[in-house]
Amino acid sequence: MNTQFLQTPIDYLKGVGPNRADLLKKELGIHTFQDLINLFPNRYLDRTHYYKIGDLQRNSSEIQIVGKITHIKTVEQKRNKRLVATFVDDTGKMELVWFRGHKWIRENLKLNTPYVIFGKVNWFNGVYSMPHPEMELLAQHEKSLRSAMQPIYPSTEKLSSSGITNRVINTLMQTLFRELKNNITESLSEPLLKSLKLMPKSEAFFNVHFPQGQEKLTRAQYRLKFEELFFIQIQLLQKRQLHKTKIKGYPFEKVGPYFNTFFSSHLPFPLTGAQKRVIKEIRNDLGSNAQMNRLLQGDVGSGKTIVAFMSMLIALDNDFQACLMAPTEILSVQHYNNLSEWCNLLNIRVDLLTGSTKASRRKEIHESLENGDLQILIGTHALLEDKVKFRNLGLAIIDEQHRFGVAQRSKLWHKNIHPPHVFVMTATPIPRTLAMSVYGDLDISVIDEMPPGRKDIKTVHRFDANRLKVFRFLKDEIAKGRQVYIVYPLIQESQAMDYKDLMDGYASIEREFPKPEYQISIVHGQMKAADKDYEMERFVKGETQIMVATTVIEVGVNVPNASVMIIESAERFGLSQLHQLRGRVGRGAEQSYCILMTSHKLSADARTRLETMVRTNDGFEISEVDLKLRGPGDMMGTQQSGVLNLRIADIIKDSEILKIARGYATQVIKEDPQLSLPQNTPIRNTYQQLAKYKNIWNYIS
Ligand code: ADP
Ligand code: MG
Repeated sequence: MNTQFLQTPIDYLKGVGPNRADLLKKELGIHTFQDLINLFPNRYLDRTHYYKIGDLQRNSSEIQIVGKITHIKTVEQKRNKRLVATFVDDTGKMELVWFRGHKWIRENLKLNTPYVIFGKVNWFNGVYSMPHPEMELLAQHEKSLRSAMQPIYPSTEKLSSSGITNRVINTLMQTLFRELKNNITESLSEPLLKSLKLMPKSEAFFNVHFPQGQEKLTRAQYRLKFEELFFIQIQLLQKRQLHKTKIKGYPFEKVGPYFNTFFSSHLPFPLTGAQKRVIKEIRNDLGSNAQMNRLLQGDVGSGKTIVAFMSMLIALDNDFQACLMAPTEILSVQHYNNLSEWCNLLNIRVDLLTGSTKASRRKEIHESLENGDLQILIGTHALLEDKVKFRNLGLAIIDEQHRFGVAQRSKLWHKNIHPPHVFVMTATPIPRTLAMSVYGDLDISVIDEMPPGRKDIKTVHRFDANRLKVFRFLKDEIAKGRQVYIVYPLIQESQAMDYKDLMDGYASIEREFPKPEYQISIVHGQMKAADKDYEMERFVKGETQIMVATTVIEVGVNVPNASVMIIESAERFGLSQLHQLRGRVGRGAEQSYCILMTSHKLSADARTRLETMVRTNDGFEISEVDLKLRGPGDMMGTQQSGVLNLRIADIIKDSEILKIARGYATQVIKEDPQLSLPQNTPIRNTYQQLAKYKNIWNYIS
């Protein structure tokens, strides 16, 4: 009944005429009563404390005082008129001053009647004064719902210039709450309210709009933030569950000879604990009836490749094909080289398909895929072409998640009767808070342990002026037999200039590191794929000591002998990119270095990024800083930022509440997947309401 009432159009609220309704809709998106109670204040002015005039300080901020006006006069000075009232309490006197609206004030102010005044106090000519105070009769003040913590609502220029001030919103809110009679249907279950000691919903809404003191306000905000995050989690978990029950996958029932032989005879190194754990998680998923939809996170160098390979072996053991898709040609080639070595040991037929695969080879690949001869296909976007048809694709692995859009990802799905199992590997650690909210419907595995024997990469920040010293250091490292990356930014918008920078840099490096003592490779986006591969190959084989490149090498390239990463114009890179690039070194046993070169002109954010890189190698820590600098919307790209349109909670500041909400939501759904227990009725009703009116998750497709 109540929910229906809340769906009443805002036009029907007392005090809202057609004009105001129009403005509220256009400016604040308030269409219904519900929308109005969901208009949460941005901040509060503390009006819990009453000052005495005798205690005023010269630098008091906004304060309130109870007292009486004893006298009003007009003061004329040059061309200006002002209205001055003498205001007293039992400790002293001060002045209230108006520069406008004299007539109205003179007619309406009552002498010798207690008022509560609120505003900023000035010290002028030996007297305290308050210009244009907010005033309310004490008797009225005590009666009104308006409370000690004064809420300040979001507003727009248009609203305030049309007279819909904060005070008007507050009054509308009072009207609404009087009509509601403080009776808002509870949406959380009794056990949940009890175990978290949450304020009931009605009380929470009341206190957010009319706080009865700081403590109650804090509890009210907590309750509403929890609720918002909790229902998002319920929705995500329900979606995941629906996915699990509705979307059947191929159950990979057995772990057979491919997997077992590799595991017992060909493991190139002992797996880390984290790798073992993740392989187990994947194995469990693949064995179930549901289609796997998993995100595998692991910092650069944490060893995701072998996890991918061993998962593919499970697919092959069950007579399915597998594919691995990477965002760049170079990376695909490297995956192919790595994996085919292991495949050869097991007599597995594997091939590579990229944009530069010759037409005749392409045809062979298409055929052997369709007749099932080919067991593993590795490649780029080329895998998504319509002509590429698997006989029975059981597992699709995607390296580096956010280079592919969701639409592209799902293209792989349409190649089969059932969708293949999918897992997405990303080296960009996603802050836990985002992982829980944006990817809350995916299963997430994390490789949070580095292979043994890795030394932390030493990172330093150097200014361009010190370049010669840096070059000397490079020569020393090269003399020890190491290899070096020098990376230049390549930003889409300024391609031509960046390209020039790269070429200028290359020329100066050639001068500084002359042939034949030094050999230099160069790789950039404007080269033909075959030339890139050739240069890359030379570097991988150790024929060149220096690799000058744009960010094409960002993802995945593995040259364990490379020990120095120099990043030119490092201030122009984002944190996650810097971290990715740094991950190219430190893959061997040697001490590795990352040198961030910049000019002297640095923005505050750039400074923070550089300091963060110098301070830590921990990808998760870096991603948290990144999230704070860039904000969640920016980090996820616009397509997903809708998820983060929260009304009261803040994904960054309230990450603790998010964790708790996630925990409880998981527990509730686990115990009662259909939300059919009587105690969960409020949750189910709210969930259905929200789905119906698409209040907070219009982002769910
Ligand atoms: P990423 O997670 O960045 O894709 P890779 O799979 O390329 O990492 O692994 C990085 C390097 O670490 C490779 O040279 C790989 O052979 C090696 N490696 C992976 N796992 C282990 C391990 N458990 N012990 C030792 N070396 C490992
Ligand atoms: Mg990798």
